[in-house]
Amino acid sequence: MNFTLELQPTRVIFGAGQMAAVASEVYLLGFTKPVIISTPGHRVLAERVQALVGTSASLFSGAVMHVPTDSVAAVLQHVSRYQSDGCVCIGGSTTVGLAKAVSLETGLRSLAIPTTYAGSEMTPIWGITREGIKVTGRDPRVQPRTVIYDPELTLSLPAGISGASGINAMAHSVEALYAENRNPLISLLSESSIAALADSLPRIAQNPGDLLARTQALQGSWLAGIALGTVGMAIHHKLCHVLGGSFSLPHAEVHSVMLPYCVAYNREHAPEAMQAMARALHVDAPSVPGALHDLVARLGAPTSLRALGMQRGDLARAAEIALARPYYNPRAVTFDGVLELLTAAWTGSRP
Ligand code: NAD
Repeated sequence: MNFTLELQPTRVIFGAGQMAAVASEVYLLGFTKPVIISTPGHRVLAERVQALVGTSASLFSGAVMHVPTDSVAAVLQHVSRYQSDGCVCIGGSTTVGLAKAVSLETGLRSLAIPTTYAGSEMTPIWGITREGIKVTGRDPRVQPRTVIYDPELTLSLPAGISGASGINAMAHSVEALYAENRNPLISLLSESSIAALADSLPRIAQNPGDLLARTQALQGSWLAGIALGTVGMAIHHKLCHVLGGSFSLPHAEVHSVMLPYCVAYNREHAPEAMQAMARALHVDAPSVPGALHDLVARLGAPTSLRALGMQRGDLARAAEIALARPYYNPRAVTFDGVLELLTAAWTGSRP
């Protein structure tokens, strides 16, 4: 029952239509010449933010997946040229990631307006890809000071991406429940987040325009982001990092595929976490991995590594890489255990 908990202070504004609050929030932060960061595909959205904030804001629409150093150099040049005094980022965690790189390099603070469920806006974790290798770290300076969650902005997120991104969020809450440094507050948030996501994601899959379901999913992913930013993760995140980094499998989809199998791996070793998930999913504890598998399938997200293009012959190498550096997990992480887990995930059989 012993624990240490340090919450990062972030001001959160939540609700449909709240993007309009960006001007007053920028003012509260004291930004006079912010840079508005987006991907090229979200430039129109960034222009809407610029119209709200005023002409003193400049636009940088060069955010690229996995934050390569080229994009960091380009945004830093922009910041220096326009003498930006803060960042406003709008988009998925790719865009939030670039704003974090700016904070890391310059100390500028940021305001984030997320449009996916990945949750980076609530964490002090940064990642930059140097010569093809993603380097990550934790630094409280990179965590956005203010986050505006506006579910209306998520209405355009396609059903397929919504499902995978939502399960990506759920995975943060799941692993927070059996984290080495778990605590009662984060466990409560995590259970509530799993319940919100499990309830809302199937409704979004049926009708991506369902604003109530979108609101519930965004609340679930906000809580999942807090969990990710506050306690450590375990085997699921480690394996997803290996599969994404060394085998180039897509981030959110690989999280979706792996979640039921990683939970099955820990089934007998994290009884309290299984009970919490069982309550959130309305099943009994032994059925949790199967229920997660059914949920992923219902969302139309991929359910096997084979479907993501992974070669069966690469599974042993993935297991080796995953074992190279030890990390906490409720059940000991062994080569045979991981290979069995990966093989089940490759075939997609119901755990
Ligand atoms: P993303 O930002 O690349 O978005 C995924 C896709 O959705 C993109 O094609 C994007 O253009 C599209 N999209 C985003 N919002 C949309 C909207 N509202 N409507 C239509 N399309 C939209 O990726 P992501 O899934 O948000 O995040 C994944 C990345 O974030 C990975 O690189 C991962 O490593 C990182 N991440 C970091 C943390 C952290 O704490 N540092 C946490 C989670 C994820």
